[in-house]
Amino acid sequence: MADSPGTKCLRCQGDMQEIGEVSLVTGKHSAAAKLLFGQLAEMDERPWALSAHRCSSCHLVELYDPAP
Ligand SMILES: [Zn+2]
Repeated sequence: MADSPGTKCLRCQGDMQEIGEVSLVTGKHSAAAKLLFGQLAEMDERPWALSAHRCSSCHLVELYDPAP
């Protein structure tokens, strides 16, 4: 990923290292909703892949959305 935004930590200007992708699920429903609605409750769940970067000096972790 050549065009990831910023390689310096916003907090301490340390070097940010990419530590991989993190998947978040949007629109997640509670277990109770799944009991009541079954598959219907999962219809609008969408995995959202974010790029995670970690500062090598202060350990700040930032998430970037790689989508345009
Ligand atoms: Zn830092």
